[in-house]
Amino acid sequence: MKNNCVFCAIAAGEIPCFKVYEDDLVLAYLDINPFAEGHTLVIPKEHSTGILDTSPETLREMIVRVQKVAARLKDVLPCDGFNILQNNGPAAGQTVPHLHFHIVPRLGSDVAADISFANHPGDMDHLKALAERLRF
Ligand code: AMP
Ligand code: ZN
Repeated sequence: MKNNCVFCAIAAGEIPCFKVYEDDLVLAYLDINPFAEGHTLVIPKEHSTGILDTSPETLREMIVRVQKVAARLKDVLPCDGFNILQNNGPAAGQTVPHLHFHIVPRLGSDVAADISFANHPGDMDHLKALAERLRF
């Protein structure tokens, strides 16, 4: 596995993912421990660990992709809003050291609920079917 990095391995197709979107620069796929229905990660295909070691050009391009994927989630899912999260460093809760943006769809009825960073594995069959609905 290149760099010993799980997300590089996903980008290279060496590890499967529940793909939602892909282009030359990014890959978006469902988080396997979702905070909410449709929780999606957007990663650059090229490795960087976080905001500080990513070029401004890549960051600019990434946020446009994050917007595109968020719009897709909002179109397909019951989704009243969404959180965009991006953790930098273990102290901030980053567990995978490859830049990624979390897009977490939210419902109005969730409004008081905190997002839990605890890992609750999703149901794989459900994630597969959900990714098929969301893919664009
Ligand atoms: P962070 O805490 O910001 O580093 O988030 C890493 C996220 O990656 C967590 O929410 C994990 O559930 C998720 N994750 C780890 N491995 C995989 C994988 N193979 N496929 C999809 N999501 C993953
Ligand atoms: Zn990587």
